[in-house]
Amino acid sequence: MAKPVIVVHGGAWGIPDRLVESNLKGVEKATKAGWAVLEGNGSALDAVVAAVNVLEDDPTFDAGIGSVLTEDGTVEMDSLIMDGTTLDAGAAVGLKDVRYPIKLARKIMEETPHVMMTGEGASRIADKHGLERISQDELVTEEAKLEFKEWSKKAELGSSFGHDTVGDVALDDEGNIAAATCTGGVTGKLVGRIGDVPLIGSGGYADSRVGGVSTTGHGESIMKVNLARLVLN
Ligand code: ASP
Repeated sequence: MAKPVIVVHGGAWGIPDRLVESNLKGVEKATKAGWAVLEGNGSALDAVVAAVNVLEDDPTFDAGIGSVLTEDGTVEMDSLIMDGTTLDAGAAVGLKDVRYPIKLARKIMEETPHVMMTGEGASRIADKHGLERISQDELVTEEAKLEFKEWSKKAELGSSFGHDTVGDVALDDEGNIAAATCTGGVTGKLVGRIGDVPLIGSGGYADSRVGGVSTTGHGESIMKVNLARLVLN
């Protein structure tokens, strides 16, 4: 029997002073939600989803409500989940109206023969499994607009001004490891840009024999080296 563990991050790229307090609070709340699952003998997969759901709802973070904005001022989100025991994974890409992108990644992993989905097909899976939808008006926050405004002055693609991607890794009492990552990407990204997050081995990786990783930072750089997989080697 393994001793359960959960590690949660709320991004570690650029966190302005005004958001440090809410970042710490949010991560603590999410960790507690994940821990409650593990303490009740729940699975690592359930735990990583429970924690990420808290962060997707928290406007402090770049995932779900509060996601950073594209060049058009819209939200497009990516998510990845991986089961370290089976090496199964699910990824959802370019989501515009799914409230909990990590839940959709899990449904793709568990309920379809595929690993990564986007567009109309991803929406159909969300509907089929009764996943909650959300409007762009609810996803776009004042903080994200402010960040976008600051970003627009410099328009330096890939620079980060504020809140950040979320993710976690959990180990349950049966020795299963799971990893999850969810993001709105980077401020001012081109519409349709896909970052590292939904890519297995870049945005995250889990292997119950070795460990788990969820990454944050400049996606275009992370992708080049499959950072999550590299870390586990
Ligand atoms: N890695 C994310 C992306 O490039 C951004 C982040 O971690 O803040 O989409």
